[in-house]
Amino acid sequence: MFDYIIVGAGFAGSVMAERIANVLNKKVLIIEKRNHIAGNCYDERIENILVHKYGPHLFHTSLKEVWDYLSNFTDWDIYNHRVLAFIDGQKVPIPFNFNTLYEVFPNELAKRIEKKLLENYKYNSKVPILELKKSKDKDLQFLADYVYEKIFVNYTAKQWNKKPEEIDSEVTARVPVFVGKDNRYFNDKYQGVPKDGYTKLFQNMLNHPNIKIMLNTGFKEVIKIEDKKIYFLNQEFKGKLIFTGMIDELFDYKFGKLPYRSVRMKFEIIEKKYYQEVATVNYPNNYDFTRITEFKHIHPIKTNKTIILKEYPQKYIKNKNTPYYPIFTKENQEKYNKYLEYSKSFENIILVGRLAEYKYYDMDDIVKRALEVFGEKIK
Ligand code: UDP
Repeated sequence: MFDYIIVGAGFAGSVMAERIANVLNKKVLIIEKRNHIAGNCYDERIENILVHKYGPHLFHTSLKEVWDYLSNFTDWDIYNHRVLAFIDGQKVPIPFNFNTLYEVFPNELAKRIEKKLLENYKYNSKVPILELKKSKDKDLQFLADYVYEKIFVNYTAKQWNKKPEEIDSEVTARVPVFVGKDNRYFNDKYQGVPKDGYTKLFQNMLNHPNIKIMLNTGFKEVIKIEDKKIYFLNQEFKGKLIFTGMIDELFDYKFGKLPYRSVRMKFEIIEKKYYQEVATVNYPNNYDFTRITEFKHIHPIKTNKTIILKEYPQKYIKNKNTPYYPIFTKENQEKYNKYLEYSKSFENIILVGRLAEYKYYDMDDIVKRALEVFGEKIK
């Protein structure tokens, strides 16, 4: 029998499984509804090009302990993500920085704004667009309006079907205005992609005799919760359930549905060596997709074909598409808090992950979180 049952084989579930197996030498069963491990990090080769099937995953962290932990399961290719935004017919670097400034404005105007930015903010600092919008200075107000209109408002409408002000300010703060010349999308100390891909990283993590994986199995097919007891295949399970799926589904939507945002992923194989200049080009104002990613820039390979991905955000509908993002509004957070409170009345359920905690965790955040939960609630 198993000491722990884990629902979900993404980062949250896989880190927990690995720690329980290796550190505690206990037995774990992972239940996964998809036909593969690695959650949304899952990648595979198409036409020999390594493709991220659930959208671009670029690993970046400033946490040495997370980088070191994952380095037990993979070597890394150094990769620093670059994004251009297609604005008024030009592709310019984002986060919006001094290079962008000089590309979109006449020199004199750019100089004046650069000076004002340096008078008001520290060099190499990040200013969230909603912060910049509060500026009293006329030139900075002009800049804020420009960046808001050209980069944020329409992209956010496509991505979330909301105005930037309607979602938690942390969401748009992920892509700040950058007071400096760094053209990279992230500034973290450690950045890279697993040398042989994420799927291989997960295989290495889960390759342990104490870990069994049941694929193609929705948790409701094998697990029931009744009177605060957990049943696995109709027998009472006395161990702990680590749940990384949707918290509202776990508790049968008793406080109502939590909304999520989904994305339709449209891959295209193109008979060209390269399609675009960098890995990702964002299209805030044109077309119905938010961005195009070309995987060859992330995992370089010499071939005459290339593969691109167009992302079309859409509403999450159960059994129709995949829940990718929790939607950060006050109302949704309040609903989630009800589920969280309720979950505390179960001694044998541990919630961890983007869907279970209704949080916009990046990959490094969730690895850190899973290591913490292991330390606090299991070890
Ligand atoms: N965003 C935007 N325009 C852009 C890039 C980002 O408005 O060109 C906003 C948008 O609301 C988006 C958020 O910033 O959802 C976070 O962007 P990020 O690239 O971090 O999103 P992810 O890669 O997680 O989808």
